[in-house]
Amino acid sequence: MTPDEFRKHGHELVDWIATYLEGVEGRPVQAVVEPGDVRAALAEHPPTDPEPFETVMADVERVIMPGVTNWQHPNWFAYFPANTSYPSILGELLSAGLGVQGMSWVTSPACTELETLMLDWMQELLGLPERWRSTSDTGGGVLQGSASEATLVAILSARHRATNGTVNADGDTTQLVAYTTSQSHSSVEKGLRIAGIGTDRLRIVPHDDEFAMRPDALAEMIIADRGAGLVPFFVNANHGTTSSTAFDPTAHIGPICRQADVWLHVDGAMAGIAALAPEFRWVNDGLEFADSYCTNPHKWMGVNFDCTTYWTADRSSLLGALSILPEYLRSAAAESGAVIDYRDWQVPLGRRFRALKLWFAIRCDGVDAMRRMIRDHVAITQRLAARVRVDERFEIAAPHPLNLLCVRHRDGDAATDALIEAANASDAGHFTRTVLDNRSVLRISIGARTTTAAHVDAMWDALGALA
Ligand code: PLP
Repeated sequence: MTPDEFRKHGHELVDWIATYLEGVEGRPVQAVVEPGDVRAALAEHPPTDPEPFETVMADVERVIMPGVTNWQHPNWFAYFPANTSYPSILGELLSAGLGVQGMSWVTSPACTELETLMLDWMQELLGLPERWRSTSDTGGGVLQGSASEATLVAILSARHRATNGTVNADGDTTQLVAYTTSQSHSSVEKGLRIAGIGTDRLRIVPHDDEFAMRPDALAEMIIADRGAGLVPFFVNANHGTTSSTAFDPTAHIGPICRQADVWLHVDGAMAGIAALAPEFRWVNDGLEFADSYCTNPHKWMGVNFDCTTYWTADRSSLLGALSILPEYLRSAAAESGAVIDYRDWQVPLGRRFRALKLWFAIRCDGVDAMRRMIRDHVAITQRLAARVRVDERFEIAAPHPLNLLCVRHRDGDAATDALIEAANASDAGHFTRTVLDNRSVLRISIGARTTTAAHVDAMWDALGALA
């Protein structure tokens, strides 16, 4: 492709994306293909000669789009949202165009310095502890690709601290024990497996009726493990679980972790972004005790995937766990101690210029628009809850402080499962099933940028007819 063709097709593609996003409501929410359909409709072997861009785009329309699940659709009620926005798409494009590898400050100073500033902006916008700012003596923030990577990095930092940094040499990790509830995201268990701790060293702490960790049970488990000669090293608390947006009582868990010298990580993947609106700052309760925290602008904030903000109050453990300095990565800037090399704050070496999309979104859309969206989604969810409550066929299965409503059919699991299946087969929207208290639950997650009260009313009318 020549520069002139790139200019022409670039305009066409941005136009195509704008048309897609404007018209996404007219498409089905879910992909309309069977397994294997997409591949079968494409050339099995790569072409040897270049093809016109128009031919490729024709295949996008013909083959790719029917196989696309439309996450930006206003009837997106599945999983959690993965919102995009026009400025963040442009930030992503600029990042691709610059093609920067920001592994070290010296490999692109602006990539590092904008990222550091964005983490400090987000600390301020979310009202997070001051000691997480890059200017603090011990803390700092970094963009990770996903909340799962953030959790892994937290586990590795905790492992480093608990083993006095000996794990890379002859350190013994076999006595380490981690704690979380059954409501935690699977990435906690996965991270422990990757870190060599293993699933059998993960203790499941009992939760209360609202799916929140019981601090008394945590304290007892830590004491029992200590008594058995084991080394409690990591607690994962949730601020908004995936199944039901349950909040663990971090303000009570924190002192237990402090006293036991256990690393406390808080996973606020989706719900943490609510703190953009001051009236939802309660989502931060207890964070002053956390050694690390993550939330995802790529879920509810309108910064397209991937963009996880991760902070730690103990950057020396993070750097101790992940810094390795081969000769080819040495630089005078790093050796002077005046700069950050973010490769030491994450698992991979290479990293994209992700801060651009966060910067573009905050500057071009403005934080007030994001706050409005969050407030609207919460208000719409509470309105839906009021409708569900007066329908005697259904019951609400969990507290719904923000934008997720968990509903089940009073006739039992078979009726709930049948409703989820029928809803997903209809054009009412896309929904996810979960299990709470060993019973099936229909999750209604209201967070797509385009979702309005009218969409949710229509969705509930449709589900009511299907039930
Ligand atoms: N933690 C929680 C509470 C989540 O809900 C999710 C995903 O929905 C994750 C972690 C994993 O997020 P990611 O896809 O960014 O790894």
